[in-house]
Amino acid sequence: MHRISREIRFCYGHRLLHYDGKCRHLHGHNGKAVITLEAEQLDALGMVVDFTRLKQVVGDWIDEALDHKMLLHRDDPVLPYLRAQGEPVFVTDVNPTAENIARLIFDYAVAQGFPVLEVQLWETDTCQASYRRR
Ligand SMILES: [Zn+2]
Repeated sequence: MHRISREIRFCYGHRLLHYDGKCRHLHGHNGKAVITLEAEQLDALGMVVDFTRLKQVVGDWIDEALDHKMLLHRDDPVLPYLRAQGEPVFVTDVNPTAENIARLIFDYAVAQGFPVLEVQLWETDTCQASYRRR
């Protein structure tokens, strides 16, 4: 079995609803997604997937959809205010935790046809959440 991983760094803000800790306040992270692909067979070039293609497809989506955005639950009461101010937001159906951001990126990469094993989301240097299906 072959595996490759690519890191994609991005900045995001969020806050957690119904949470009794400091993450209930708006704050930001310099995050890092690590996308790991797996394949039994390599392609004709000897690759699982070209690192550049992974960066172009998933990295560009992260840049556009998540980078320098506030990731907020759709019920977050601050959402209408931020929208009225023209602030960029990414709205989620679930609490925008590291766990759920990892799954969001995982689902996007799978939908683009990549053979994704796992997505890790490093929220800080010491806190990481990961999502995989098996
Ligand atoms: Zn946070």
